Amino acid sequence: MSKQINKVAITGGTHGNELTGVYLINKYKKNPDLVKRDSFQTIFMHTNVGAMQKCTRYVDKDLNRTFIKKDLANPEKYCYEDVLAKNINEKLGPKGAEKTAVDFIVDLHSTTSDMGLSIVIDNDSELTWQIASYLKEKEPNLHIFRWKGDTKEVSFVNSITKDGFAIEVGPIPQGVLRADLFFETEKLVGHILDYFEKLNTNQLNKTYKTLEIYDHVKLLDFPRGEDGEICATVHPNLQDNGYYKLSKGDPLFITLEGEVINYDENDEMYALFINEAAYYEKGFAMCLTEKKSISL
Ligand SMILES: [Zn+2]
Repeated sequence: MSKQINKVAITGGTHGNELTGVYLINKYKKNPDLVKRDSFQTIFMHTNVGAMQKCTRYVDKDLNRTFIKKDLANPEKYCYEDVLAKNINEKLGPKGAEKTAVDFIVDLHSTTSDMGLSIVIDNDSELTWQIASYLKEKEPNLHIFRWKGDTKEVSFVNSITKDGFAIEVGPIPQGVLRADLFFETEKLVGHILDYFEKLNTNQLNKTYKTLEIYDHVKLLDFPRGEDGEICATVHPNLQDNGYYKLSKGDPLFITLEGEVINYDENDEMYALFINEAAYYEKGFAMCLTEKKSISL
């Protein structure tokens, strides 16, 4: 790959109650040398300070679903996160431009579900997939999840640039700073920056050809009654069990009366983002994925 990286952005606090990113950015503010490399510039920023102050996911709407090109250009869109998104887009983008202000965005998240150390990729750029493979080699316990989304256009912070992804670690309750996953996240960011340094100085002697991933198939809602209220929750087998393998007939949900609802599809799937707190309002109990090896 001949691409040269000039500027990288590490963003945290996109969801104000996900403290791993909030505090890692705080740490970088105090010790900017931690993210300094010779061949490129790293910037780091809190993206949603209003939500961080309230320790909520967002103020008016989910910032990580707000980077939609036509909305970014629409002056009528002016709620708190709409304005934030426009400012961030100006600073890091603009989205869709051939040349963006930064070359790569790493957005820091955490989840209440047992996702371990994961990255969420929503693009097909070569650099992104090469770096994902490099990270998997460095940290074999890393999970790579290809997200196909709950919005028509991918509208994550990291979708501003062609290259980038989100780091997603858990289980971490909302509003909690958890040490082990904080340090794992920090280490992973270090590997990412090292990769760019090696790329820029021609020290990468390997092109990865295949990678094992969890590929998004669909989002699954909770069973609901006629009134629209949730009438069952995830079965205890799945709770706190990230990347859970589901085969036909396996318990999936359990009603509040204790009746088990089984997984009824023929295809074997892996469930992740199981019982993620922030997805109740979106109507997702989990994401079903296919585990596969893809060619790069
Ligand atoms: Zn998040």
